[in-house]
Amino acid sequence: APVLTVEGIRKSFGNKEILGGVDLSIRRGEIKVLIGPSGAGKSTLLQSINFLVMPDAGRICLEGRPVDPSDRKGLCLYRQQVGMIFQEFNLFDHLTALGNVEIGLVRVKKMKRSQARERAMAELERVGLGVHAHKYPAELSGGQKQRVSIARALALDPKVMLLDEPTSALDPELIGEVHAVIRDLGAAGMTMIMATHQIGFARALADEIIFMENGVVIEQGPPDKILDDA
Ligand code: ADP
Ligand code: ADP
Repeated sequence: APVLTVEGIRKSFGNKEILGGVDLSIRRGEIKVLIGPSGAGKSTLLQSINFLVMPDAGRICLEGRPVDPSDRKGLCLYRQQVGMIFQEFNLFDHLTALGNVEIGLVRVKKMKRSQARERAMAELERVGLGVHAHKYPAELSGGQKQRVSIARALALDPKVMLLDEPTSALDPELIGEVHAVIRDLGAAGMTMIMATHQIGFARALADEIIFMENGVVIEQGPPDKILDDA
């Protein structure tokens, strides 16, 4: 049974249709990579899956249960289970790396401070940032900041991770360290849907490539099939 299914998602902004009915489903441990031209709707689709954008139509199910975005508690729980990584990291500047990971555990998971700190440190170590745990975002490189945001999502024990062009805000020399963390996550069995323009990485990582254009899925299949004729 799939972990997550997306059924007939539509979204318009004004009278412009951005998503024209998107279906997808993902099994446990599977990695799907969204590719397609800028403006194809990849980011809007990922944001719709997390209800950061409210779809006009369609349904999202997690482990077979439809998500009701009007149920605030349910939505909060769903967002812990479906973690999201953004292009722009979205860290709190006034908190250290450790503080950024810890705060979710305290506020969202209602963990005790000491227990949250221990867990947060373990997640930072997992992304290779144990030694930088007490630095503020301004003292970290873009690649390190993105690894903190990955650690923050992981701390909540997600069942699925959504990654929206996680390396597109990074200088080229910093992309590799973030790709390495994502690759390790995949190897550890994390279920992921990632949008990227990094075709080489997509080919290496994906079980399936989903090619989107004009708000619809044009083609999907194994990397060698989709990318050779793309
Ligand atoms: P991407 O890099 O994925 O192509 P965009 O540059 O299209 O992203 O959009 C960046 C952000 O701006 C997104 O959060 C998107 O929702 C928002 N955005 C994009 N276009 C518009 C628009 N025409 N009006 C309002 N917000 C927009
Ligand atoms: P992609 O991620 O594939 O580059 P996006 O989902 O960012 O595509 O954007 C798809 C289209 O939706 C773009 O034309 C963008 O300008 C538009 N768009 C995105 N967010 C908004 C918004 N909040 N308001 C209006 N238009 C938007």
